[in-house]
Amino acid sequence: MTESWHSLSPNEALEKLEATASGLNDEVVKKRQLQYGPNALEEKPGKPPLLVFLSQFANPLVYVLFVAAAVSIFTGHAVDTLTIFGVLLINAAIGYIQETRAEKAMASLKEMTAPKATVRRGGRLHDIPARELVPGDIIILAAGDRVPADARLIQITGLETNESALTGESEPVEKGLHQVPDETTMADQADVVFQGTSVTQGQGEAVVVATGMATELGRIAGSLEEIPQEKTPLQKNIDRLSKSLVFILLGVCVLILAVGLIRGLGLTDMVLFAIAAAVSAIPEGLPAVVTVVLAIGMRIMAARHAIIRRLVAVETLGSATVICSDKTGTLTINQMTLRKLYFDGRTIEVTGEGYRPEGDFKEGERTLNITEEETLLNLLRVSALTNDASITTGAECCNIFGDPTEAALLVAAAKAGIVKTDLEKSEPRLDEIPFSSELQYMATLNAVGDDLQTINLKGAAEKVLGMCNLIWREGRVLELDDEVRENVKQEIEAMAAAGLRVLALASADLAEPVSSFDNLSFEDKLTFIGLAGIADPPRAEARDAVAMARGAGIRVVMITGDHVSTAKAIAGQVGIDGDHALTGTELSAMTESDFARAVEKVSVYARTEPLQKLRIVKALKARGEVVAVTGDGVNDAPALKAADIGVAMGKSGTDVAREAADMVLADDNFASVVAAVEEGRGIFNRLRAVFYYLLASNIGELLALAAAIAIIGQAPLLAVQILWVNVVTDATLTVPLALEPRRGDELDGPPRSPEVGLLYPGMIWRIGYTAAIMAVAVFGIFWWGLRHETLEQARTLAFCTIVSFELFKGFVARTDNKPVLKIGLFSNKWFMFAMGIAVSLQLAAVYLPFMQAAFHTAPPSLTDWLIIIGAGLSIFVIEELRKQFFPELFSKGKWRK
Ligand code: ADP
Ligand code: MG
Repeated sequence: MTESWHSLSPNEALEKLEATASGLNDEVVKKRQLQYGPNALEEKPGKPPLLVFLSQFANPLVYVLFVAAAVSIFTGHAVDTLTIFGVLLINAAIGYIQETRAEKAMASLKEMTAPKATVRRGGRLHDIPARELVPGDIIILAAGDRVPADARLIQITGLETNESALTGESEPVEKGLHQVPDETTMADQADVVFQGTSVTQGQGEAVVVATGMATELGRIAGSLEEIPQEKTPLQKNIDRLSKSLVFILLGVCVLILAVGLIRGLGLTDMVLFAIAAAVSAIPEGLPAVVTVVLAIGMRIMAARHAIIRRLVAVETLGSATVICSDKTGTLTINQMTLRKLYFDGRTIEVTGEGYRPEGDFKEGERTLNITEEETLLNLLRVSALTNDASITTGAECCNIFGDPTEAALLVAAAKAGIVKTDLEKSEPRLDEIPFSSELQYMATLNAVGDDLQTINLKGAAEKVLGMCNLIWREGRVLELDDEVRENVKQEIEAMAAAGLRVLALASADLAEPVSSFDNLSFEDKLTFIGLAGIADPPRAEARDAVAMARGAGIRVVMITGDHVSTAKAIAGQVGIDGDHALTGTELSAMTESDFARAVEKVSVYARTEPLQKLRIVKALKARGEVVAVTGDGVNDAPALKAADIGVAMGKSGTDVAREAADMVLADDNFASVVAAVEEGRGIFNRLRAVFYYLLASNIGELLALAAAIAIIGQAPLLAVQILWVNVVTDATLTVPLALEPRRGDELDGPPRSPEVGLLYPGMIWRIGYTAAIMAVAVFGIFWWGLRHETLEQARTLAFCTIVSFELFKGFVARTDNKPVLKIGLFSNKWFMFAMGIAVSLQLAAVYLPFMQAAFHTAPPSLTDWLIIIGAGLSIFVIEELRKQFFPELFSKGKWRK
């Protein structure tokens, strides 16, 4: 399908695709979806389930164990061999479930962040998943969008794209409509846009010519190798740690083997015993458990509107120290209502709620008669002309499309009976300069009749005022002298201090008709008309979220393009310290070293340009802060990338921002960032619980075995029993431990230092002393058993005591410094469920005849049971008391100072 679409005119392209500018109808779409398949690059198929299952055995230790078990058949241990195989099968099955579960969770996350496209079908606009596009679809492109398929342009305004993903060219490419010769190379096909590139400026419409693997990107990529999910620092750490653990634990097992041999225990028995100890003590499932914890945590975060794009964010979130947040839409609700107007030296109020075009214009108590207010009408007329928003009418009234700021202006105009669509019929728009945060204004060029053309402009108040040297006054145009200018400035200040977003409106009549803004200079030629004060109240939950962040040792910084007084007013309302505010102009005048100092204190940045965000983020990071930053525009991408946690807006954000981000907020809400931090910390707590549990249990176990063999000269457990302990404790309990529900105290302490991994000094102490207690107790009890019972009974006693210890230690592991009884002994239902299974399994192992044969057990006596339960309970009681009375005893190194 190597069609040269670039050499066809837009109409030829449409014709060839049997499409029209108003879009395909549903029937054709369905047919073409069948014919062309999904618009997606092919992925390498995943591992087949059988392979995943078999790979659970891919562990050198397991091989050795197999061999040892096979050898032991010849030494008359056939039952043991079968038992070993059985236990290994159960282990593999659990590993398999863990791994597939982790993969499923990952896949569903991928879906959540799947790209979308705006398409016109049957004359109406729809937002659809980009996968569903077909050739012939009409797509709408705007700045910040990712191009969802290869498409021939059919209409554009100032469209530029970044094609570096395809051509390596990093400068934006200007696009055009004119067809180019057949042999033109891809980089010069200005009339075509390519999948995988992104729109940096302007707007356009295009007809899709190729989808999926038929696109240029698809052709280059071939069958796309699955991009390997990069491992996070935490995962790498754990991989490293588990490797060193392997060596340490193997070392201990070799030692046990040596001691056993010295003490004259049989060679085959001892070899089997040592290998079994190694297999069950080495937490080979740890990396999978970590993935499960991360994946489940990400699912919970998604339910709280924070969608993770890069795994690393999950752990970085927990150590965030600063959150830089946008104001508009993130801290505020982004529902704009025009409240005040200023013109002719008067300030009036506008009544009405939301986007419903009903309300009055009031001066004090008096309702104005609109028809008599020439300047007011002019103000509203310009508001409607310099506007790309739209509002639904009739039964579906008052949903807005486009920028809420513009919608607010549109609604105000409609309250005076000025309707944009009618207005544009008599004053058609010839050209426009779209709003950008850098320019801070938007302008249109309109034709009034045949020979008059006007420039209409709206934008940030002081900016626009600075561009004007004339002013409208009651129907006349006057010089804008210093005194009047000063008055206007005071009014801007007053409106802003009340938390309103202040826009100014201006216009100019052109002496000589032109058809576009090209080469047209209009600064200083504009006539100031008036001001519009727009309210955008803070989100109800923002104040609490800011306070929660503060309680968690996290500073909240506001970065906005709005006026400094507006910014301070809103900051005050949500509880951000507005005393130290800095404007973009002040910021750019500062030297790096001055700014490096200022950044400590400043919590409000106003009138900033998006690129200054990058500077702020870098300065904060240089101070050792862990920075989360929000953003939505194309120009926010560098800051999002540079931040430790880039947060993009899911609703109002652009594709480019989303792709640069580590996390996307489904509801654009600041409170969701704080929720994500809370979850991030929770995830870390859970991982630590799992880690503590695995280490404390396994180390305790090995110590007990080593002590008994060295001192008594008897193995307290048989090889099969050791393997079984692993099944009923490690394998059964770790994942449920990782499902521990959020406790609600995650945001109570300061952030974790990024240098502190899962293990911190206090935790190592805890592992050490609980393992030691267990080892001493098991050793003592086995010794007691040998003197009072048969060998088989004594072993069963030791066997059950170890299991008992590890089950109680499961409860202990759930918290580090808070009594478990306080958070609810049964509050983790998964854990209780697993506990039930573990207990049943262990009872079966000592009571069911065939299990007794397999595991060489004898039913414990009542005294035995008292010993078994009492021993396990002791560790629980000791730890509960410690948590109640000395909660900080083992918290050393846990937090940032
Ligand atoms: P924010 O960070 O609050 O979203 P923006 O960069 O979007 O700020 O806006 C900066 C300023 O530009 C605003 O204070 C406002 O005065 C002005 N402005 C915002 N939106 C528009 C628009 N659509 N047209 C003209 N001016 C605008
Ligand atoms: Mg904005």
